[in-house]
Amino acid sequence: MDSLALDKKISDRGKEFFASISGEAPSIFNKGWWTGKVMDWSMKNENFKVQLFRFVDVLPYLNTSDSLTRHIDEYFAGDDQDVPKVLKMGAGVMGTGLGGKLAAGILAKAIRSNIEGMAKQFIIGENTPDAMKNLKKIRKDGFAFTVDILGEASVSEIESEAYLREYMELLDALKKEHASWGGLGGKDLDWGHAPKVNISVKPTALFSQASPKDFEGSVQGIEKRLAAILRKVKEMGGFMRIDMEQYKFKDITLEVYRRLRSSEEFRDYPHLGIVLQAYLKDTDQDLADLLAWARAEKLPISVRLVKGAYWDSETVIAKQNGWDIPVWTIKAESDAAYERQARLILENHDICHFGCASHNIRTIAAVMETAKALNVPDERYEFQVLYGMAEPVRKGLLNVAKRVRLYAPYGDLLPGMAYLVRRLLENTANESFLRQSFAEEAEVERLMENPVLTAEREKAQRAPKAESQAKGLARFENEPFADFTQEAVRQAFAEAVAEVRAQLGKEYPLIIGGQEVRTSDTLPSVNPANPNEIIGTICQASTKEIDLAIEAAKKAALAWKALSPEDRASYLLKAAEVARKEIFTLSAWQTLEVGKQFDQAQADVAEAIDFLEYYAREMIRLGKPQRMGRAPGEMSRLMYQPKGIAAVIAPWNFPLAISCGMSAAAIVAGNPVLYKPAGPSSVVGFTLSEIFRKAGLPAGVFNYVPGRGSVMGDYLVEHPDVAIIAFTGSMEVGHRIIGKASVVHPGQKQIKKVIAELGGKNAIIIDDDADLDEAIREVLHSAFAFQGQKCSACSRVIVVEPIYAKFIERLVEGAKSLAIGPAEDPTYFMGPVVDDKAQQNVLKYIDIAKNEGKILLANPVAAIGYYVPLTIVEGITPEHRIAQEEVFGPVLSVMKVKNFDQAIEWANSTRYSLTGAVFSRSPKHLEKAREQFNVGNLYLNRGSTGALVERHPFGGFNMSGIGSKAGGPDYLLQFMDPRLVCENTMRRGFAPIEEDDDWII
Ligand SMILES: Cc1cc2nc3c(=O)[nH]c(=O)nc-3n(C[C@H](O)[C@H](O)[C@H](O)COP(=O)(O)OP(=O)(O)OC[C@H]3O[C@@H](n4cnc5c(N)ncnc54)[C@H](O)[C@@H]3O)c2cc1C
Repeated sequence: MDSLALDKKISDRGKEFFASISGEAPSIFNKGWWTGKVMDWSMKNENFKVQLFRFVDVLPYLNTSDSLTRHIDEYFAGDDQDVPKVLKMGAGVMGTGLGGKLAAGILAKAIRSNIEGMAKQFIIGENTPDAMKNLKKIRKDGFAFTVDILGEASVSEIESEAYLREYMELLDALKKEHASWGGLGGKDLDWGHAPKVNISVKPTALFSQASPKDFEGSVQGIEKRLAAILRKVKEMGGFMRIDMEQYKFKDITLEVYRRLRSSEEFRDYPHLGIVLQAYLKDTDQDLADLLAWARAEKLPISVRLVKGAYWDSETVIAKQNGWDIPVWTIKAESDAAYERQARLILENHDICHFGCASHNIRTIAAVMETAKALNVPDERYEFQVLYGMAEPVRKGLLNVAKRVRLYAPYGDLLPGMAYLVRRLLENTANESFLRQSFAEEAEVERLMENPVLTAEREKAQRAPKAESQAKGLARFENEPFADFTQEAVRQAFAEAVAEVRAQLGKEYPLIIGGQEVRTSDTLPSVNPANPNEIIGTICQASTKEIDLAIEAAKKAALAWKALSPEDRASYLLKAAEVARKEIFTLSAWQTLEVGKQFDQAQADVAEAIDFLEYYAREMIRLGKPQRMGRAPGEMSRLMYQPKGIAAVIAPWNFPLAISCGMSAAAIVAGNPVLYKPAGPSSVVGFTLSEIFRKAGLPAGVFNYVPGRGSVMGDYLVEHPDVAIIAFTGSMEVGHRIIGKASVVHPGQKQIKKVIAELGGKNAIIIDDDADLDEAIREVLHSAFAFQGQKCSACSRVIVVEPIYAKFIERLVEGAKSLAIGPAEDPTYFMGPVVDDKAQQNVLKYIDIAKNEGKILLANPVAAIGYYVPLTIVEGITPEHRIAQEEVFGPVLSVMKVKNFDQAIEWANSTRYSLTGAVFSRSPKHLEKAREQFNVGNLYLNRGSTGALVERHPFGGFNMSGIGSKAGGPDYLLQFMDPRLVCENTMRRGFAPIEEDDDWII
């Protein structure tokens, strides 16, 4: 049949479908009920919708009447506004004259019960007996089911095991029941061919450590538990479908499916299906590959095709990380992809069974008509809809298609609320077919339009207008993070480690004035996971070499300073290009030399690139003299000039990023640099020198002078020719530098400028309404990623009492699930600390923690390598040393507080003020944190690490350092002296007229 004729049939079929259900609306849009009214109001009022959905999300945590009423007030009542009328419906307080606390209490209760009622509408039951009763009812109404257990995020293996157990219990219950059910359509199987028992499983909930970085480990972790479920499903002749979740798990899930389907044990069992999401740009290829695989293996498969449930988050996450957006961005493109892919599946019906999952009548009609045109037998396709949604659609479907399956989630309301929020978003999205059909009653003709045409029209409307070529540099954008969903990226890391390993053990000279300088004093740098592996041997500068380097810098200074800001910036941009090309190798050096995991090593190099790109643009901005004032007859201009030679003394924890940031700032501002890397990361330091060499930076502008602090550290700081000291490191060394730099030495012409970024004792506050799934994941990451060796790392978690027990139990289990081992193996979350000194220091603090509090967890560690136990200690109060002193390792103190005010007070109780974070869903508490949590970088509802250039300029105050924020708009100013030149332009009563002189009339 030609496509025009088919399209006409689809459209006619759709219109017929609409006519058959005319006058009916899904209950969620039924304005006779509370839910329908609230939905109607939220579709008219975006702000209310956001507040409502956020409130629904937090509701399961509001366990006391006080916190419930407080949140209702905070979410819905502004200063000048009462709780919207629509929410009060059914509360029995409108017009009763009840006032004050009593009315508020009744109102709160009614709102809770209305929202819980709304959630229950989408859920088959909160416990097994209820679920069984409702499943029976569904079947009596003529629908088949697929049941899924609510619960998506597992933060620990114990939770994943519990999720597995719940499935086993569900299957036990189904086993007891299903024998007594007759098949739909009268035979033993449903419709004569389909198993009666049908379950859907979210794969990642079965393995808490699933991560695209560890592809193989994730596949195995999920497969093991899914196999256990499938075994039981097989025993009762049931069907199991693996749901599809976020894009980052897509390839892992497909691989799990292939392995399970083709395994010895299940090859002969055809009732295992997978889900594909039409909104993903990858799906055309994935589907073709899957079909080809099924044919090659001679294994029948089953695909449920959906559009996809995570459109908003996929778009936001991709944009935040600088990745290509994986989903179609025009709704009709997803619809068109669906029809295209459905056709391909139906064409291959001999090998692929089809589950058409959609509530969109155009989509459904397309599947029906295409199946008819292709003569697809009934038993090779079925229709699926979500329980509680689109009731008229499912009824209409049952009338015409007969084979309709309801996707029926069951379980606790707590994860149920997250599911409810997804359903509400789906129903109320502007693009939603259901909203347009039933809430807005769009014209049927338009709703039935071929999506290919709709998409073309929208694309034409969105096509960018021809823009004039923008001048100058493009706007700054952060370097994208590595996307580990891409096999090529995972492969590149493994290859880079092998490439770097082949180069280990070399001797590294100093680089002074562009020349290699070797010294007899050398220091080895070793792999902290295996100290026998020498990364390199580094020549160490003595005071003699520092003098040489100062001379070289002085020689380069004049010409360098004389270059225009644009010319100096161009070297940074070239350096960024070099680093970008070598990003995998540069990361691999860090993985081996300091034990940084791939993702974080890549993030470090990406940050180095960001500093180069950002400071280049900043210098161009600051390089333009600014006109000050507007007085006629006078030209007053402010401009900046370099201060002089800079000593950059860098840490090992961000071995490239911080070294590069401090050096690039000094250089682009016109100051030559003497760079002293930290001992444990001297080879990475050398890679920075190579980056600048390859970028063609003139000799002497950047001098690589590693050396022992005890031999040349003070000498460098005190040298009369050093004008700036940019230091990042510990508070003790920082204080020493500031002290030494304040003394004026003979021959010294200027007061030294010290920029010092020091330590932190960063706290994360967990409020009683915090989203624990997120909070736990973020606390674990902030405290233990890169072994807690970031200045921004979380070392205190302050938890309010009502949520304490629940939080701590899950946190400790989560931490127990983190594997510890070499950073080069992506199986491991945590690696060794940087060297033996760090190891001894952390062990010392673990002893202090043991004395001061109660150790909740101290993971055992390998004997070889500088490993320390991941440690969590509770019972800590502000007086304890472990609550005050920076450890710089994976030691987390847990502090229990009575309420949020005390949490803020304790968070502010150290000398440091670097980073902090708060997990709370109370707008008032977040506001309080904004005002009172006194740190340089405060993060709300996210972890305390991971600052990004420009987006989160980084740095603290008090004992956390002096100087302005790295990666921010004030940073370069610290490397320059401002000069003002004011010229009297009036000669003999005559002043040039300036165009922007606003005094001229
Ligand atoms: C039985 C069943 C099982 C399901 N299982 C899964 C699953 O395992 N995994 C999963 O991810 N989803 C799953 N879903 C799908 C999902 O939850 C939605 O129900 C589905 O996407 C809605 O599509 P629709 O055709 O009913 O509605 P429509 O209103 O036609 O389509 C809405 C969908 O279009 C897409 N979309 C929205 N805006 C845009 C845009 N601007 N550009 C491009 N595309 C856009 C989104 O996918 C959105 O959900 C399942 C659905 C059903 C019925």
